[in-house]
Amino acid sequence: MKHSDISEILLTKTEIKNRVARLGEKISQDYKDKKPILISVLKGSVVFLSDLIRHLNFPVILDFISLSSYTSTQSSGVVRLIMDLRESIVGKDVLIIEDIVDTGLTLSYLKRNLMTRNPKSLKICVLLDKKECRKKPIKIDYTGFVIPNKFCVGYGLDWNQLYRNLPYIGILKPSVYRRRER
Ligand code: 5GP
Repeated sequence: MKHSDISEILLTKTEIKNRVARLGEKISQDYKDKKPILISVLKGSVVFLSDLIRHLNFPVILDFISLSSYTSTQSSGVVRLIMDLRESIVGKDVLIIEDIVDTGLTLSYLKRNLMTRNPKSLKICVLLDKKECRKKPIKIDYTGFVIPNKFCVGYGLDWNQLYRNLPYIGILKPSVYRRRER
């Protein structure tokens, strides 16, 4: 059942489930015999992370980081570190897990920041890629879906902290955020 604030379901529960399983298989092959630290970018990636790790067949170590660049539906362009990792990543294989890449500013900032800590390797996995919106080029190693430039919510993604629990990814009706922005 579609929520009344959603104009269109972009990716169904089943489409996401199947794609996440395939991503998990690919990551499992690539990290066979390794013990990477998966860094989940809070809060949007937690639903994706929790499904993905159940398809990984290596010992999974998790850590979390929190960054901020968004106000409502617009990127401010200025990325801030809100909460840092607990563990050191020196000499470790690191895989960043992010919900969505849009301008690329957040992931470019994060990659630059983490590379100063001398990991052995660093790769990036995103569920959604708004490829056409890129302002900073950034190499994405694992992508779930390339999507159009529409503001989406669900499966972890929010608008003003709402809609994260929707089991699908949907496009939020612009009337919902315009109502609040007035
Ligand atoms: P970037 O820095 O690449 O422009 O944006 C990355 C961050 O912007 C994501 O981590 C996410 O928090 C937010 N973001 C970008 N597009 C969307 C979207 O369509 N929906 C939601 N909920 N967040 C988005």
